Amino acid sequence: MSKFTIVIHGGAGTILRSAMTPELEKAYKEGLEQALHAGYTLLEKNGTSLDAVKAAVMSLEDCILFNAGRGSVFAKDGSQEMDASIMEGKTLMAGAVSAVRSIKNPVDLAYVVMTKSQHVMLNGKGAYDFALRHGIKTEPDSYFFSQFRYDQWKELQGTDEAALDHNVPSKEKKFGTVGAVALDKHGNIAAATSTGGMTNKQYGRVGDSPIIGAGTYANNKTCAISCTGHGEPFIRSVTAYDVSCLMEYKGLSLNDAMHLVVHDKLLKIDGEGGMIGVDAKGNAAMVFNSEGMYRGMKCSDGRNEIAVYK
Ligand code: ASP
Repeated sequence: MSKFTIVIHGGAGTILRSAMTPELEKAYKEGLEQALHAGYTLLEKNGTSLDAVKAAVMSLEDCILFNAGRGSVFAKDGSQEMDASIMEGKTLMAGAVSAVRSIKNPVDLAYVVMTKSQHVMLNGKGAYDFALRHGIKTEPDSYFFSQFRYDQWKELQGTDEAALDHNVPSKEKKFGTVGAVALDKHGNIAAATSTGGMTNKQYGRVGDSPIIGAGTYANNKTCAISCTGHGEPFIRSVTAYDVSCLMEYKGLSLNDAMHLVVHDKLLKIDGEGGMIGVDAKGNAAMVFNSEGMYRGMKCSDGRNEIAVYK
């Protein structure tokens, strides 16, 4: 039987055991479990890696605990603007949306941009109008609201500081851009990422998550990668594509390439965060330089794990 694998993340950062209750940890793990299940069942039934990463990310977007879709963080003006992207390793086709509001599942819109437009990225109002034309589901502001994200924003409101949701100086450190990478039975890989970005960001700010090559990349020849962390350094180091380049041009393994980028290159420019990756041979890795990363992996060889801390 051909191997298949799905790997997901729910954000990386200062996840401290001391700031976590058993109930909350359980809820996070359930959210991750559901997303893994959504992707894995598709792969099991011969589905494509593209559909699996979309399903897993949509499940995480629907979970209010993670900073994507419902439960996204607040920008400077109190709005919730979201970024998302998706890429297929077989065709190098990609779709992305940035700074969109009211879209229930931004990754679904990114998928429709990829499959039903001649473009790769749509932004703001144009993305919204395109979504309506294609029957993408929208929700009122109240759907996206969560009290804890609002409280986090209140701590920074009026300052010029934009923070990763986990770095807000709150006692409760909650965060979580989300992403998924997968290998299907046909030997194809794909990646997807979705986020509300950073708390108190300038509205209109675009992070790494929707940027193909920075927060997301997939190429059957090398790897599928989804990143999470402080977006600006991830953009400046073209992070996801750098992993692919190290594999393609230097012959590094997936694991070695991811470690070099996360623990050396990113750290040199204060890039806090991590990434998940798969390759077409069935290798998978989850690497981060922060205190923790919500993460999970389920493979046809029996590997099945969910973890939060180092
Ligand atoms: N990378 C995301 C951004 O900068 C944030 C995160 O991963 O939590 O928008």
